Amino acid sequence: MTEFAVGSVGGAEASRAVAIAREQVFELPDAPTMGDLLADWDAWMERIATAIEDGSLAERAELSGVELAAPLPTPRNLYMAGANYADHAREMRKLPADAPIEPSPHGPFFFLKPTTTVVGPGADVVIPAGIDKLDWEVELAAVIGREARDLGPADALSCVAGYMVLNDVSARDNFKREPATEPPMTFDWFGQKGWATTCPTGPWIVPARFLPDPADLQMTLSVNGEVEQSSSTAAMIFDLPSQIAYLSRIVPLLPGDVIATGTPAGVGMGKGRFLAAGDEMVAAIEGLGELRNPVIEEVR
Ligand code: ZN
Repeated sequence: MTEFAVGSVGGAEASRAVAIAREQVFELPDAPTMGDLLADWDAWMERIATAIEDGSLAERAELSGVELAAPLPTPRNLYMAGANYADHAREMRKLPADAPIEPSPHGPFFFLKPTTTVVGPGADVVIPAGIDKLDWEVELAAVIGREARDLGPADALSCVAGYMVLNDVSARDNFKREPATEPPMTFDWFGQKGWATTCPTGPWIVPARFLPDPADLQMTLSVNGEVEQSSSTAAMIFDLPSQIAYLSRIVPLLPGDVIATGTPAGVGMGKGRFLAAGDEMVAAIEGLGELRNPVIEEVR
């Protein structure tokens, strides 16, 4: 079978899904949105596979000439794993490289990122006025394609439609409130993670059928060509099946939900180096492509 990915073109208001194969972008019959595809994922995947094989997707363009949008412009929920790589947990807590990091007995830690943060490949990431410590985080993201409750780790991946690269850009100015406030309010997840344009996603979604095991994928993030993060999804503390099992006990996972699985070491916070206007980030994961985003400064 020809391998293909699915992406989106057009603005958030008029977004439509397309298929991408052999460096070409194919229009789909009836101009569905990515939400439409996710609502009937398996049937759409069969339909696209057949149509690419038999040549019936007539309207096509060279990939190099197409401006792709965020594959899923408005996810239903953005579930984000925090501190899910031991080396990243150490750098954020300023611990030595050999400090043991045990998996929490409570399970993985999640926070929600507002869906209004999502942008696509090539889109500007804006440094908000008053923020000096904007930081990068390459993450493997799973897109949910089937309603799921109470999954066990063994069948957890059955609800995943596909995978994409996600960059969980974070305003470290707001990481910790100093001087320390009441303990529950010490770490400001919303102020750190909620700013507009801080969730580049894409460049497309690779259907899970072409990536049956996401458990050992090389991942990198570069800024201006310099590699800042380099790891593998194998280094997660809680793997994706454990994350899905945990989440699906609390919430019904729904088509269009996105789970970002955490970031490895090498973020700017650990080095005291942050994004500046004119920088370009490239987040890449083996088999999923490259997500490239320029950085600009907010003008108010
Ligand atoms: Zn993150």
